[in-house]
Amino acid sequence: MIRALLLAAALTALPALARPPRLTLVISVDALGSDVLLRNRARLKGGLGQLLNQGAFFPYARYGQAECRTAPGHTTLSTGANPWRHGIVDNRWVERSTMKRVLAFADAAHPVLEAPLTPGQDSGPAHIQVETLADRLRVATQERGKAVAVSIKSHAAIPLAGRAGQAWWFDKGVGKFVTGTWYTKAFPEWMKALNARKLPEASFGKKWELMRPASEYVGEDEGPAESDVYGLGRTFPHPLDGGLPSPGPTFYQAFAVSPDSHDLLVEAAKAAIAGEGLGKDDVPDLLAVSFSGTDLVFHEYGPYSWEMQDTLLRLDKAMSGLIAAAERAAGGRGNLVIALSADHGGAAAPEQWAATGLAAKRVNPVELANGLTQALRQQFGGDVTATLEVLDVYLGGKTHQGGAVDAAVRRAAAAWLMKHPSVVTAVASDDLLTAPDTAGYLARMRKGYFPGRSGDVLFMVKPFHLLLSTPVGTSHGTPHAYDAQVPMLFAGKGVKPGVYLEEVDPVDFAPTLAALMELGMPASAEGKPRAEALTGR
Ligand SMILES: [Zn+2]
Repeated sequence: MIRALLLAAALTALPALARPPRLTLVISVDALGSDVLLRNRARLKGGLGQLLNQGAFFPYARYGQAECRTAPGHTTLSTGANPWRHGIVDNRWVERSTMKRVLAFADAAHPVLEAPLTPGQDSGPAHIQVETLADRLRVATQERGKAVAVSIKSHAAIPLAGRAGQAWWFDKGVGKFVTGTWYTKAFPEWMKALNARKLPEASFGKKWELMRPASEYVGEDEGPAESDVYGLGRTFPHPLDGGLPSPGPTFYQAFAVSPDSHDLLVEAAKAAIAGEGLGKDDVPDLLAVSFSGTDLVFHEYGPYSWEMQDTLLRLDKAMSGLIAAAERAAGGRGNLVIALSADHGGAAAPEQWAATGLAAKRVNPVELANGLTQALRQQFGGDVTATLEVLDVYLGGKTHQGGAVDAAVRRAAAAWLMKHPSVVTAVASDDLLTAPDTAGYLARMRKGYFPGRSGDVLFMVKPFHLLLSTPVGTSHGTPHAYDAQVPMLFAGKGVKPGVYLEEVDPVDFAPTLAALMELGMPASAEGKPRAEALTGR
């Protein structure tokens, strides 16, 4: 009896642990490839470094889909499914009835609130075919659990919020956070107050300087094929005024590239915590933050640049503030889960790789499309056109027989592409499921294929060959390791810390979180909880 009482007393003396965790913080670092993170790891002493040292770290998660881009990557992270299920095949695709490009999250019925209307802009989740983790949480808690996603990018915030959460993104036209009418008809007070603080304006006229002494950065400040956009220049210090006398769209673009955008997102996260009471009670809440500055820096300066090195140092610092705020909100780390991953990695500028001796090449997609169009017209006559959207080819027009473009044209297009020196494989949609997959690329194309949205012909460029119409800058979007391999990390309540070297798939991200949050799996998840990294308590 006495023993039982003592035991009961000991149990009640333990700090109150909510189960499941009161708050789950999901962090996406846009374009953070595994190699970039690992190369910079030793210098990360802030929030990101802390997570790497204290969490369950999977350095090698590799996307199973072919086209590693922001919208599909974030949707895979939030749903545990590949594009063949979730339907977000790319940041945009070609609508066959009009042969015009549509953005992945365009939703004419639910436009953006409080920003000038741009037809066709991203504004809602209607194109997502499956359940997200945020949706699962809202359903499972009968809408008592909150889910809020913030990002600079609409096509990161929307897939993280799904249908039932809230998505907020930074509109570079007006310099404020906005959302679409799908999510709300009027801004909540906390968001009005955040926007009224005009935080980006505080960066106007300042310069992005190196955080550490120049001797600590690897390589040269000015690398081959770096861009000069929005008045930022190619070397440090980078002026933040967009070449304008007062804040306006070009400045907001420059601001979005700069690491100051990380700090803005941390402030938005704090405002969401306070405004929505995230982590306040035992009903689990979800806060998702997708840092976009890393991707914008990557595109303009490349993954090896001083700019990328510096933006990671600054992100590391900003993340300390974000983690501290989440811990405070949840009442300590014992009630908090933190997860981190990336939507894709990225290629170096081909000129940088070529300087090292690799067989790298910049391939102009407009020239490629024109060459293909010409070849098809020679063979079939008529007004057939080929439109390229990254690795998807959309064929329009009629053949000389007067019918719509048919399988013969699609197969001829694939055959022409196969002979192109930068192409490793190409397949007509007719043959995607049946063609022999000798090099294993077709399996990835299949996982990325969604009928009606994917192309008539799919193709794959050789490694180090980059489809980009600009003479400078770089990109991502292939299944090659530099684009497809990203870190995955979990920390906090219920996580078994360690470094897990097995290659995993980002489809496991949402299921692992669902398990930690004690929710059932998102309805169409293909991945599984990474049980080796969970304590089960
Ligand atoms: Zn991205």
